Amino acid sequence: MEHIPSTGRYDQMRYNRCGRSGLKLPAVSLGLWQNWGGVDSLENGRAMIHRAFDLGITHFDLANNYGPPYGSAEENFGRILQSDLYSYRDELVISTKAGWDMWPGPYGDWGSRKYLIASLDQSLLRMGLEYVDIFYHHRPDPETPMEETMGALDHIVRSGKSLYVGISQYNPDETFKAVGILRDLGTPCLIHQPNYSMLDRWIEGGLLETLDNLGMGCIVFSPLAQGLLTNRYLNGIPPDSRAAKEGTELGEDEITPDFLVQAKQLDSIALKRGQSLAQMAIAWVMRRPQVTSALIGASRVSQIEELVAALDNPRFTPEELAEIDSITSPVLR
Ligand code: NDP
Repeated sequence: MEHIPSTGRYDQMRYNRCGRSGLKLPAVSLGLWQNWGGVDSLENGRAMIHRAFDLGITHFDLANNYGPPYGSAEENFGRILQSDLYSYRDELVISTKAGWDMWPGPYGDWGSRKYLIASLDQSLLRMGLEYVDIFYHHRPDPETPMEETMGALDHIVRSGKSLYVGISQYNPDETFKAVGILRDLGTPCLIHQPNYSMLDRWIEGGLLETLDNLGMGCIVFSPLAQGLLTNRYLNGIPPDSRAAKEGTELGEDEITPDFLVQAKQLDSIALKRGQSLAQMAIAWVMRRPQVTSALIGASRVSQIEELVAALDNPRFTPEELAEIDSITSPVLR
């Protein structure tokens, strides 16, 4: 049934310009990597998308192989979109990607023109869309000439199947090269999607500066380190958490005594700021002016509400930042 969104949905959210483009993205975006697959509750997924949109989250991020099974997150998102939100399509920025394992054989992985174009066609069918707003190459391919991969992205924009293109997990040199090829073809590279959190600060080692120089946006994934930077694991491993679930990329073995010491220290800084650890983790990635949006995941509506409220307290004192640095070791240059 059609969802009637809150009329106040644009009152609280901040929208940041994506690099030097015309597109703005919400400071918090929602990713459907986990919890929207065929194995998950469609009703819970539906409730999270409704609430996210009501809170001003206009950007939903997918990939061909999100599920499990592969493709099922796009199918479920398509179902929800078609039945509940279709008249709001022009208020949404929908992204998908290809670059990881998707179908068997030599044409369902990495970065060939053959794979990327076929994969986007499949994604559009699954979601019931004529175009996506952003199509990403999901990871660099060391074997395919970058000219071929970027040529496929350029073609995708020209064919109207995506309005913009982006790259994910490219290092600064690869980024510089990819963006140059695209620019020569006449298609700007809108955005980079790297991982970034207090526990993984690699993009401070040159990528953020590169993106700034190139005028690209930056949407950072796993800002909560998949849930480690929340109060989820401070007192054990809840059975419904990502770490406890089979087949996820977060293992129980990551909840070590050393990690818990670190997490509890960060939690006490957050409490002094009047925030939860999860909220501080979002505010912290957003402190960098180059970061356009924090790309969160969620397993329930209340988590989305909590994370969006992080934007109420975005500022850090130099003392707080130094304390966080002393716990999480910044990248040294
Ligand atoms: P996060 O780091 O935000 O982790 C999300 C998880 O943290 C949730 O599923 C939930 O886990 C837990 N959580 C969220 N909010 C709270 C809260 N308030 N309190 C306690 N726990 C909370 O991001 P993800 O790792 O999910 O990644 C986000 C998105 O980034 C993906 O959906 C995808 O779109 C994108 N991504 C892109 C990649 C790429 O290569 N480009 C790779 C990976 C992700 P629980 O289930 O335990 O409740």
